[in-house]
Amino acid sequence: MSLELRQNNIRKLTKRHFDVLILGAGINGAVSAAALAARGVKVALIDKGDFGGGTSSQSSNLAWGGIKYLESGELGLVSHLCKSRNHLVRSFPSTVKEIRFLTTVQKGFRWPAPLLYLGTLLYWLIGRCATKAPAAMSREGLRRRDPRIRIDTASGGFEYSDCYLHDNDSRFVFSFVRKAMNYGAVAANYVGATDVVRKDGFWAVSIRDEIDGLTSEVECDVLINACGPEVDRVNVMAEKRTSYRHIFSKGVHLIVDRTPDRSRILAFFASDGRLFFVIPMGPKTCIGTTDTEVNDPAVRVDDEDRDFILNNANELLNLSSPLTKDDIIAERCGVRPLAVSGESESANWMELSRKHHVEVSEADAHISIFGGKLTDCINVGEEIIEIVANLGVQLPVEPRRWYGEPDVRVKEEFVVQARLLGLDGLTDPRSSEPLTDRLWRRYGANAFEMLETVRENPRNAERLMEHAEYLRCEIEQAGRREMITKLDDFLRRRSKISLVVRRSDIIDDPGLREFCEILVGDQADAKLQEYIEQTRP
Ligand SMILES: Cc1cc2nc3c(=O)[nH]c(=O)nc-3n(C[C@H](O)[C@H](O)[C@H](O)COP(=O)(O)OP(=O)(O)OC[C@H]3O[C@@H](n4cnc5c(N)ncnc54)[C@H](O)[C@@H]3O)c2cc1C
Repeated sequence: MSLELRQNNIRKLTKRHFDVLILGAGINGAVSAAALAARGVKVALIDKGDFGGGTSSQSSNLAWGGIKYLESGELGLVSHLCKSRNHLVRSFPSTVKEIRFLTTVQKGFRWPAPLLYLGTLLYWLIGRCATKAPAAMSREGLRRRDPRIRIDTASGGFEYSDCYLHDNDSRFVFSFVRKAMNYGAVAANYVGATDVVRKDGFWAVSIRDEIDGLTSEVECDVLINACGPEVDRVNVMAEKRTSYRHIFSKGVHLIVDRTPDRSRILAFFASDGRLFFVIPMGPKTCIGTTDTEVNDPAVRVDDEDRDFILNNANELLNLSSPLTKDDIIAERCGVRPLAVSGESESANWMELSRKHHVEVSEADAHISIFGGKLTDCINVGEEIIEIVANLGVQLPVEPRRWYGEPDVRVKEEFVVQARLLGLDGLTDPRSSEPLTDRLWRRYGANAFEMLETVRENPRNAERLMEHAEYLRCEIEQAGRREMITKLDDFLRRRSKISLVVRRSDIIDDPGLREFCEILVGDQADAKLQEYIEQTRP
């Protein structure tokens, strides 16, 4: 049971001295933990909220090579990001997928469509031609390809490829947390660092269990601050001065109740001249984003954000009826932590924004991770291994691959076993894909265990909730392995149910009670009540 896993890990946290303690389990903390634990380093990972519950759950879900930085001439950055993207797709072929971006250029836009098309050719070449080649598109071609595009205001367009995270950004983050735990890392969600003190040659970190309020202390040789937008605040707590710091750009997406064409993303240039995406998200559509400079990382969606997104969507799309606030199922809102050094603030917003910087203080074995992207996560993990080794921490296990899906032969074996079991025959007719594909993508080698439970009892392949494509055996495994501490951990982050199903439909779903019971046992009623309270609009 998730709650037991968490309690055990919290007990282990307070009894051991770790080689490395990582604060923050967004993408940067999660990959650091997986990379180090795979090399045999004694690692602890804590997050004051849920794993991947910060910025890493608010992204556009893209693994992209940064096409927009071509405009500012950032060829080096684009080359680096394309390389990272290609590496990610090769490593996670079921999870990170190529998708076409059908892009419309408005009349009077600052660049003509043919020139932008040439830009996509350059992008494709810089991306080592790893994706399908771009194609120029006339207005009529755009309309034929997707009748949702409004072409009377368009001058032309093109289609190019980039990649997206099929399931969800925070699920992707959790896969690294889980991998770290498999390699022996001690990880706990809802455990925050409340004070950080340097003692005689080690760090002493006061921690607080955000669920029961209990406090204790953890010690470590090396401290990694991976608190995303809160890196600076936590560094102040540790009395650490750094040359880098963060500035923030707020970004909002709305998920609306429209059926998308799942095969492509629609791209436009919004009224502020920035790229604007209409992205399929399961059975619904995610639209955004905004880009507003803010001082405080604690942000909320406001009416200005909603109006900007809805107005642009209504302006750019050919809809049977305009989108209104009633169409909104869920909202995503976060800040991009943008790394700046010294006085360079806003010198070049675009250039500053997308690079990560790992700042190391060798004298006291302190590491801060600034900025970054989901797309670049493998590089962050690799850098951290090297830095931690240079700080004198022993790496008892030889280098090995700490990321990626299992070997293709393991997948082939899974597909054979699933076929022999007749798994796809049990697929719910309402499902968007066969069970074999889905279970493999979501759970990799752990999906074998699900086959076993379905063999024991075909009921385990039944869908539990009317509105969510999750099977009994998936919920059982989540209950054991995914540290579900609050229902929202599963509904919003391990899955994307609450992003694509209205809150009222979730709460009224006849299967919800049983679903909760499997996830959190005898705490089902309390956790259900907590979910209802905490998600009340
Ligand atoms: C709108 C938007 C769209 C984006 N789109 C993309 C995209 O399509 N592709 C892409 O690659 N990138 C994208 N990004 C960027 C990417 O999402 C972020 O750069 C990345 O998620 C940052 O990860 P992180 O680990 O640094 O921070 P976070 O994910 O914020 O993680 C930091 C964690 O630290 C925890 N924490 C804070 N204080 C404490 C404490 N005292 N004790 C313990 N834990 C603490 C927080 O709870 C949080 O979980 C986007 C960002 C935004 C905002």
